[in-house]
Amino acid sequence: MTTAAQSNPFAIPATMRAWVLDDPGQLRLTEKPVPQPGAAEVLVRIDAIAFCDGDIRIITRGPPALIEGGLPFNKDFTPGHEYMGTVVKLGAGVDEYTIGDRVAVEVHFGCGRCERCRAGMYTSCLNYGMNYGTHNKGHRANGFTTDGGFADYAVNNVNTLVHVPDGIGDEEATLIVTAGTAMYALDTLGGLIAGQSLAVTGPGAIGLLSVAVGKALGAQPVILTGTRDSRLELGKKLGADHLVNVKTENPVEAVKRITRGKGVHYVVECSGNPNGLNDGMDMVMRGGRICLVGFANEPVSVDVAKLVRNHISVFGIRGEGRSATHRAAALVAQRRFDAKLIHTHTFKMEDVPMAFKYSRERIDGAIKVVVKIRET
Ligand SMILES: [Zn+2]
Ligand SMILES: [Zn+2]
Repeated sequence: MTTAAQSNPFAIPATMRAWVLDDPGQLRLTEKPVPQPGAAEVLVRIDAIAFCDGDIRIITRGPPALIEGGLPFNKDFTPGHEYMGTVVKLGAGVDEYTIGDRVAVEVHFGCGRCERCRAGMYTSCLNYGMNYGTHNKGHRANGFTTDGGFADYAVNNVNTLVHVPDGIGDEEATLIVTAGTAMYALDTLGGLIAGQSLAVTGPGAIGLLSVAVGKALGAQPVILTGTRDSRLELGKKLGADHLVNVKTENPVEAVKRITRGKGVHYVVECSGNPNGLNDGMDMVMRGGRICLVGFANEPVSVDVAKLVRNHISVFGIRGEGRSATHRAAALVAQRRFDAKLIHTHTFKMEDVPMAFKYSRERIDGAIKVVVKIRET
């Protein structure tokens, strides 16, 4: 009998490099033990990782990271959740993946025992963050409630992995989970959107990939609104039929003009603008649906009467539930859109703080900033 250990061509060291979060905004490179995969888990050698707005929130403010029931600061916590890599060790009972497989990740592994997990809504696990002490329900969300990917290795449950399609580079593979979030937003709106109209507000990474995934699923027309022409042009390359620069045209009037006064079936709100939901209500037709992906940091005022009178449904989503990342990976494999268009910068492992700065301050037009953990 050949065991995984005997046939393993990957030499796994005892310790690894890992960035940890000290005080807010303070990242420090340190050494940690390489984690060991348990049953149904694998050890992933991280090859590349992208910065996400979620990381910026966590590193500067703390939430939504939740470590041992509290803020993530000064707990030796490693952030980062949009990574890809190579399976280098198998835990007990794993036959879904083999050593050497290239994988991308989805973030959330729910407890599997709560009502939401049982329904496939594991990103809304009722035992979120319960993975310690007497509260250990096994919840994992690497980079949020468990150690993430700004390190040489991470442990992942097999349910949080997807195979990287052939011919997809490391940097592009880090974007599969972002496309998964876009897919989950469209799932939540109804899923089958062929021939139906979609407005995406806000051309950030998820907004741009919402355009791409929406178009790949047959939405028509796809309208993208935003403030920066360079990002809007990227949206066109990813499948937007109409671009609206809100600095030069009122976005609601533009959507009405494009749809001949009808409004769209769906809005995916990715701008986080305080008036995003009110604008979305004016963009959808009666009975339309709005999914909120972006959000303002402060409470906002909403015209609820308009919502009710026009039978508008509003959804919030968290992350990438119902295996949306797997379906997004299929679209990437089919080359239905070119995700790597939104990858703008690459940094080395030792330059994570600089990569963070580029991502946060959008230096030099940064959209997706990728760190190559392993140099090839
Ligand atoms: Zn993210
Ligand atoms: Zn759960």
